Order: sequence, then structure tokens, then C-alpha cells
Amino acid sequence: MATTKNIIELSENDVDKAFRRKQIYDAVFKKGIVDFSAISTLSKDLRNQLSQKFHILEVNEVVRKESIDGTVKFLFRLSDGKCVEAVFLIDKNNHVTFCISSQVGCRMGCVFCKTGTMGLIRNLSAAEILSEVLYLYHFMTTEKGLKDQLFNIVYMGMGEPLDNFDNVMESISLITNPTFFGLSPSRITISTCGLIDRIEPAMQRFPTLRFALSLNHSIQEEREKIMPIARKFSLDEIAARLKDLYAKFKNRFTLEYVLIKDVNMSKKEIDALQRFRHQAFHINLIPLNHSDDQVKRPEEKEISRFMQELEKRHFCVTRRYRRGADIDAACGELCYRENSNAQDFS
Ligand code: SAH
Ligand code: SF4
Repeated sequence: MATTKNIIELSENDVDKAFRRKQIYDAVFKKGIVDFSAISTLSKDLRNQLSQKFHILEVNEVVRKESIDGTVKFLFRLSDGKCVEAVFLIDKNNHVTFCISSQVGCRMGCVFCKTGTMGLIRNLSAAEILSEVLYLYHFMTTEKGLKDQLFNIVYMGMGEPLDNFDNVMESISLITNPTFFGLSPSRITISTCGLIDRIEPAMQRFPTLRFALSLNHSIQEEREKIMPIARKFSLDEIAARLKDLYAKFKNRFTLEYVLIKDVNMSKKEIDALQRFRHQAFHINLIPLNHSDDQVKRPEEKEISRFMQELEKRHFCVTRRYRRGADIDAACGELCYRENSNAQDFS
């Protein structure tokens, strides 16, 4: 594969007629075909030629796990043997979301997150990110039988997307390019731990792109204890910068708040959240998905109390229900160890 070219590079010289190129792109990006030999509108010769010169996917499915709630988690192997995970989510109204990774591991070291324990192994290329989307699309159209189905994409898998800025931007250009998926940027959400200096450049390029910022604590010193990046970008800066961006782009931000027992759920933290009670923000509560020695998931009644208190104070707040919990596909559960057996991946 290393000597063949990527599908993105398909040029006029490779396929002489524009309508042939369109046939190929339609097969891949509309029908979800990921194998040249299955493109029945092309001659056998051309299919062979293309298979020798190009490959469609940069990811290979190694393992998949299916949850009882319809969530499916895939482990993908990349060409250098490193692995990442991506998750297919579907709700009861058949709304589909692809949760994709942007890095192998992550260097941000948030204490509550399993991906953080891996450290950064490497960035994904734009073609690898596009391939995750292609593969999930292929799964949706061919295996789930959901043809012509719209989907949303969240960069909430492994990695910090804004720490791999250029490749992530390039991947969004490809995904939104009418020749490929032509997806609207407003269907794409980037979740960041708070690299706020990179949000504006991204919005300048894609003004309707959505952003979720992982706030997770409302008190500066305490946030620093659970999210090392907080030392670089303070809550004061986050609040001010995002309000400015809202004034400029009229694009609301989601603030993700992972609820951790005895860490960020008391009245003190609710009081300190006050500065985020603003039309620029919508708060999404995510009860911690696992408990370990350092952090604990709150009880159901604590979660409801916290949410009710925010509602009472007129915050715009929702709760994220746990998806794929039985297969460790929920937020912050994505972690793959290099030497672990693929059978054991969790
Ligand atoms: N690096 C980006 C995107 C990946 S993490 C970011 O931090 O935003 C995606 C979301 O999962 C973030 O909101 C993060 O706060 C949350 N998360 C991480 N670990 C979690 C856990 N153990 N339980 C629940 N949510 C978690
Ligand atoms: Fe990285 Fe996001 Fe996990 Fe923090 S929460 S370690 S930024 S993936």
C-alpha cells in the first residue's frame, strides 16, 4: 500500500474522463463503497488499474464491539501498525453521529481521561481522519442499510483536535468538499480541552463549524489540578475569548462539564459557573464514565441535583446520556495499548 496513492489524489491523468472520476467519487462518497472491485459502473480493466495504483482507505478494521444501545466501536489499524478508535452512534430517531479520533493518544494529560494516560504517540493525517469517516459511512450505508442518511461528526474520540490543527482543518476541508462528502461544517463539532487561540483561525475558515469546550471545572486552581492545559489558558481568558467570538460569529459554544464526585459538583463550583451564564453558552453535563482511585462517578441523585440547580439559575443545560457504556465506547473511555492483544481492547 505504501507505494500506491490515496483516493484523494485521483487526478485527470489517472482517470482520463471527468465523468469517470465522478463515477468513482459517487461510488465512494455517496454509496459508501470502499473497494474498487465493487464499483460496478467501471470496466474490469479500470477497476484493476485503480486497485494497483490507489487505495481508498487508510484504516483497517481490526476489532469491533457492538453495544446493546446500537453504538458500535471500531478499532482501526493504521499503515504503521498504530491503532485508533472511532464510534458509530445512532439514536432512537435514527440520527447518526460519527465520533472520530484526531491523534493516536493525547498529550494533554487530563486526570479523568483514559486516552490521556497514553501520552501522544502521533498525529493522524487528514487522509487518515477522512478514512475514519469513510469507513463509518460505509458501515452505515452497507451494513446498517441507512442509505442517503445525513450524519454528524464529532471530533471527540482519541486526541486533542486543536493540537493537530493543520491536519484537522485539512480533514474538514475534505469532508465538506462537494467532490467528497459535501457535508456542511455546521454538522461538525470539534471538542477541545481549551486551546482557545486556535478556535478563531478555525472559525475564520469554517464560520459555522461547531465547538465544544471541555470546561470541567469552574475554579481556576481546581481546574489546573485535573486539566494541566488550564495553566496555559485560564478560565478568565476562556470566558472573555469565547464571548468575543460569539459576538463576532453568532455561533454558540457548548461547554462540556464532566461531573466528578467530590471534585466539581458543590455550591462553590455552581456559583463560580455564573460567568458562563450567557447566551454564548450551552452547558452539557457528562457524568464521569468510570471510577478509579483518583476520580469517582457521582450518584444519580447528585447528578440530578446539580442539573436542577443550574436550571433553577437559568442556565441553558442538558445532560449527555451514556452511550455504549457496556463496550467502553463512552467519552473518555477510548484507550488502546500498543502491546495489548487486539482481542482485549477496551
Ligand atoms: N480532547 C478533546 C476531545 C476528546 S475528549 C477534549 O478534551 O475535549 C471528549 C470529551 O470526553 C471531553 O469533553 C472530555 O472532557 C470528556 N471525557 C474525558 N474523559 C471522560 C470520562 N472519564 N468520563 C466522561 N467524559 C470524559
Ligand atoms: Fe486529551 Fe481530551 Fe482526554 Fe484531555 S480529555 S486527555 S484533552 S482526549
